[in-house]
Amino acid sequence: MTTDKKLPIVYDKAYNIGFFGIEKLHPFDTAKYGKIVKHLNKTLGIKTNQFHAPYAISNEELLKVHSEHYLNSLNNKETIAGVAEMGILTKLPLKMLQNKLLFPIRLATGGTLVAGSLAVEHGWAINLSGGYHHAKENNGEGFCFFADINLLIETLREENKIKSAMIVDLDAHQGNGHESIHGEDSLVYIFDMYNQHIYPREFQLKKYIDYDIPLNHKISDETYLKLLKEHLPKAIETSKPDIMIYAAGTDIYEHDPLGNLKISKQGIIERDSIVFSLALQNDIPIVMLLSGGYHKDSGPIIGESIEKLINMIDE
Ligand SMILES: [Zn+2]
Repeated sequence: MTTDKKLPIVYDKAYNIGFFGIEKLHPFDTAKYGKIVKHLNKTLGIKTNQFHAPYAISNEELLKVHSEHYLNSLNNKETIAGVAEMGILTKLPLKMLQNKLLFPIRLATGGTLVAGSLAVEHGWAINLSGGYHHAKENNGEGFCFFADINLLIETLREENKIKSAMIVDLDAHQGNGHESIHGEDSLVYIFDMYNQHIYPREFQLKKYIDYDIPLNHKISDETYLKLLKEHLPKAIETSKPDIMIYAAGTDIYEHDPLGNLKISKQGIIERDSIVFSLALQNDIPIVMLLSGGYHKDSGPIIGESIEKLINMIDE
């Protein structure tokens, strides 16, 4: 790895959310993103100045996918606590919630847009956060405040960089947010593979999934990877998208407290490599977003996976 070359990876240390022991209130790892960076530094010698910086998304941009009413409601502690699913947050000052919680998420949402442009230019890009696939036009939920996936599609279209897009959602949870926003858009193809027995169980949105692979609890590496290898190439062949937006949630991990699947670390690394290989082989730009992943191993697993992806692309 050459030392100062910029990589199409977007990161800011402010992605890491941490205040007042918030990590004890919600099963997420506040240092997850930093752990990925640490791994890439240790194994490939990548320095932080090789990453691209995100910017904080404005409400004006967010209006492309969200209602004004919803964005205004984020000036209200109850709404913020509701989206984050942590009632206790209403006890904290609004300014603090906006600075310590919403600001990092605004940065990560801007980071998805930066990664989208980089992917169009370089063929691939990774935002070391984002992938908020539960956010809808009029509300956030499941810790997803802003629909960055849908916003990226709308923005790239406005810039005439793409017409069609494919969302490859391999987070353990169903992507009900992007399904509700772009479900009726015939140029947005949705491939969703998720545990059908856990949140959000929004089955009325299943009709918007173009390629639907509902999974059962505790699925193994072997079955999971076989399904992916069999179906994703078919979905790409059918949709031939201008860009692939990959929600690479690591909550499919066997020890994740929320996903209830049984995929090993090696299984996750192989999954990411299958998705990237297919995008590269088909000459489709790919943007990887991290989505869910609530175990302390998530950061190191993603770090190792990205290390492998960079080596694969470099070859
Ligand atoms: Zn998830």
